[in-house]
Amino acid sequence: MDCLFCKIIEGSIPSKKVYESGSVYAFRDINPMAPVHVLVVPKMHIPSMDGVNAENSARVADIFEAIPKIAEAEGLTNGYRVISNCGEDACQTVKHLHFHLLGGRKLPDQMA
Ligand code: AMP
Ligand code: ZN
Repeated sequence: MDCLFCKIIEGSIPSKKVYESGSVYAFRDINPMAPVHVLVVPKMHIPSMDGVNAENSARVADIFEAIPKIAEAEGLTNGYRVISNCGEDACQTVKHLHFHLLGGRKLPDQMA
């Protein structure tokens, strides 16, 4: 499958890994929007939030268990933001479900 994040997970495209478990992979965004900008993804290919269902939602739960661990390891003691862009209107560019973990400075109070 021609998926950038699947290739990053399998290691054929390099990434700066910050966390890995059996089902979750997290790495630094190549174009960081904040001092800490980590992408947290399921190892299973799910195209977007729209593809989450009863069969794969445990993988999403795994991600949300990983996020506080990553945030602590990154020193985000003052808070952080988690964003997932889904589809055209949200400007999703990579069609493999991912969660942006952003922090390390005061973020804008407007989300969109
Ligand atoms: P989205 O726009 O929500 O689909 O986010 C995709 C993110 O992937 C963007 O923030 C990009 O900067 C990031 N990105 C694209 N290619 C790479 C890469 N090779 N390594 C790390 N991050 C990447
Ligand atoms: Zn994929």
